[in-house]
Amino acid sequence: MVEGARARGARPGRAAPDGIIRELSPLVASQIAAGEVVERPASVVKELIDNAIDAGASRIRVELEAGGVELARVTDDGAGIAAEQLAMAVAPHATSKLRSPEDLERIATMGFRGEALASIASVSRLSIRSRRRGSAEAWRLEVEGATRGEIRPDAGPEGTSVSARNLFFNAPARRKFLRTARTEQTRCADVVRDAALAHASIAFELVVDGRAALDLPGGQGPRERALAILGVELEDRLLEVHADEQDSSGRGVALWGLAGLPELARPTNRGQRFYVNGRPITDGTIQHALQEAYRGLIDPSRRPTAVLLLEMTPEAVDVNVHPAKSEVRFRDRSMVHSVVLRAVRAALRSADLTPTHAVEAMLRDRARAEFGSGAIEARPPAGASARDFVEAFKALGPDQTQRVLREVAEETGDARWREVDRPESAPAPAALIEPRPAARVLQIHSSYLVTQDERGMLIIDQHALHERVMFEKLRARIGRGALESQPFLTPVAVRTGAAKADRLEELAPLLSRLGIEAGRLGPEDVAIHAFPTFLAERRVDPARFLEELLERADELQGSGGDEAALHETLDLMACKAAVKAGDRLSDGEIAELIRLRQQVERSSSCPHGRPTSVRLTIADLEKLFGRRG
Ligand code: ADP
Ligand code: MG
Repeated sequence: MVEGARARGARPGRAAPDGIIRELSPLVASQIAAGEVVERPASVVKELIDNAIDAGASRIRVELEAGGVELARVTDDGAGIAAEQLAMAVAPHATSKLRSPEDLERIATMGFRGEALASIASVSRLSIRSRRRGSAEAWRLEVEGATRGEIRPDAGPEGTSVSARNLFFNAPARRKFLRTARTEQTRCADVVRDAALAHASIAFELVVDGRAALDLPGGQGPRERALAILGVELEDRLLEVHADEQDSSGRGVALWGLAGLPELARPTNRGQRFYVNGRPITDGTIQHALQEAYRGLIDPSRRPTAVLLLEMTPEAVDVNVHPAKSEVRFRDRSMVHSVVLRAVRAALRSADLTPTHAVEAMLRDRARAEFGSGAIEARPPAGASARDFVEAFKALGPDQTQRVLREVAEETGDARWREVDRPESAPAPAALIEPRPAARVLQIHSSYLVTQDERGMLIIDQHALHERVMFEKLRARIGRGALESQPFLTPVAVRTGAAKADRLEELAPLLSRLGIEAGRLGPEDVAIHAFPTFLAERRVDPARFLEELLERADELQGSGGDEAALHETLDLMACKAAVKAGDRLSDGEIAELIRLRQQVERSSSCPHGRPTSVRLTIADLEKLFGRRG
């Protein structure tokens, strides 16, 4: 219709020709309101589940027919609605959850807008059956569009069952926007999973076209519930995240979650689920903090997998910012950012590093390999850094080490292992994990280093590795204060142009941490008085480096906080200081690089997340040469 009007040259939104302003009929008014709240069956399911949670349900059953379009029904065993309250429940702007404006500042319930039932009723055939807890009778109310039926006695257990049938039967334009039943059903199921994940103690059941699609028992803990939904097979690749902190005004923030190993990162953020006080939300702050925690572990274009549940006092978060309540506003955003960042980082750092299976397995592998009876699979578990792993190894202690070695002795039947019973003659764990006598390294095309390790052959990208090493060094170094710098006898003048010179002041705090001293020389010129020793030693051109920083000022400012900007700059410094592809390296430089490789944390990927080395295992080679299928 709108298109027709357009074709005739009329503009939609023009006042009616007679100029009379009329009040909208209640039905039209609530259909307009419904436009914000009820977009598709999944929004109906979400609102009805929210109501069941608010009613204190311990069981929630969701039934769908034809993707929720024909029927979406949510049944709970919650407090129920008294007969005389039923009519109010479907009235617009009517709620039992809020009274005063101050209540809006501390919302502890899922619902509060008092609009859901009214909105759903205006665009579907709604039927509510409810029996108040402790009451003998159940009652039913049916509403269809603007017509509210009688409240009649009914039979049924305590709790409430709300059915919405034929969604958008009276709003054909909106119905057209619905996707296939299958798609709508998937979205509904996702809503159920989201709610179930955040409310582990409540039993959830989902029935799709008469068949059970999900059946989660009540009384689960958050971990058990999250794994039931994400898939238990992921258990080994999810790290538990915890935090419990105070914000600037002494209010608490608690965080529990599961964060995937870097290998679970995906091209989209579909693997991320965030909740605040039991409410699924999308949130840029949390997402940014999460991404930041994985910096250097995954390619920046990929998104880590994580479930993060935050709990905070209702005053600390404004939930009244989005009609579908899928966004919130934190009173202290930077606090939330830092809690998430630190907690996820800590989880990644300590990944799998307790002296348990992983370390024992590595010791076993080494010990077996010492006597040539098996391939070595000795490497730090995914997500763990080599250095932390060695630490954990040391923590294994002599007793546990002896036990493992004895087991290997029995298993291999090798006579030499009898010595193990005399501790002084057994190989020390350190000896078992130290690399073999240095393997030869070959530089090819002045760009790659080729060498071997226990598992096969290693090809190293010299620039990527060096950059990684430099980045880690810089990061460790800057943690102890500003970088050392050396003053120039005569300042280096740089003609940057006015636009770039203007940015100098904003970057001043960052520059001073890096050990760069620079000032305005004229409208178009900047003078550099001191430059970081680290860069000077690596013969990085001060003028070009500063120009590049000024050019990227916008990007740095927008990168999400001082720490992020600092990291990005360190990245850039590492990149500039690192040997380039095409640089011929001396034997000494090569040996040094290989030594650093073993030292540096996370040396398996460069700061941009690209690999620093690739390995062809013996098995790979055998396949390539057709020795093995
Ligand atoms: P809101 O949840 O924002 O209050 P709704 O329109 O969703 O608004 O619901 C209106 C009122 O109906 C609620 O405040 C509540 O008192 C009652 N109600 C709705 N669903 C249920 C339910 N499943 N169990 C008990 N009471 C309910
Ligand atoms: Mg509600």
